[in-house]
Amino acid sequence: MALVGFKSHNFFYFFNFFMVESAYISEIFNSIQGEGIFTGIRQVFIRFQGCPLHCIYCDTPVSRTQTVDMCKVEYTPCTGEFRSIPNPVDIATLTEIIENIWSAGTGHLSLTGGEPLIYADFIDELFREVDYPLYLETSGCNPEQARKLQYIIDIASCDVKLPEHNATSDYDSLFESELETIRIFYEAGAVTFLKVVVSRTTKKKALVAIAKKVSDLDDTIPLVIQPVTPGYGLDYPLPEQLMELMDAAGEYLVDIRAVPQIHKMMGLL
Ligand code: SF4
Repeated sequence: MALVGFKSHNFFYFFNFFMVESAYISEIFNSIQGEGIFTGIRQVFIRFQGCPLHCIYCDTPVSRTQTVDMCKVEYTPCTGEFRSIPNPVDIATLTEIIENIWSAGTGHLSLTGGEPLIYADFIDELFREVDYPLYLETSGCNPEQARKLQYIIDIASCDVKLPEHNATSDYDSLFESELETIRIFYEAGAVTFLKVVVSRTTKKKALVAIAKKVSDLDDTIPLVIQPVTPGYGLDYPLPEQLMELMDAAGEYLVDIRAVPQIHKMMGLL
């Protein structure tokens, strides 16, 4: 099932001759996308390991570092029964697993993490083997890696950080990289949107700075304001605060949505 017109794989086979054999992956499963503008779509998720950032709200800390540990695979959705395979996982093994757990109601192959752009060359190789729409979830911290995948990603979900997320010691550089990554995917024709996690302490200023910069590219790029799932010392934003944040960003962008993590509400992975 292709829910967006996705890109033909054949044309791009000849552009990257650099072979990357394997990647560190923490888990592979079939579930429902619970964030952003494609909330509710079934996806096969590949959660890559490794991330250079350290956001305070990170809900996948196990994926932040590359380990020689095992990759967990849930062959039957929602059973919680995982089989472990050794890391790193090679292209042939991953392709076989994806074909095994793909289903008629599944719409996209979700490349998530950790930071999947670390594995841009591996993903490019994988793209030659599987013919499903590619949904990328990235912090956008590495535009050079993003550029390698610009013509094969169908949907780019870019998690833009606020200074309060403490993702890095050099916020300005990260912000610049995130904006460049958004521009790369947007100009390449991917369905591109932003997600920003907000909490009880989030103020308008930093969110407005993001909205303003993105509006210079295109004011119709969707901005999803994602209320943090309480934990890590962070509280859900107050309803009136959420409205204020939406109005502040709405001064610059026309498509502002508040979407919580619904997979957690449904008890899904
Ligand atoms: S970018 Fe994502 S994986 Fe990396 S630390 Fe932040 S929330 Fe965690």
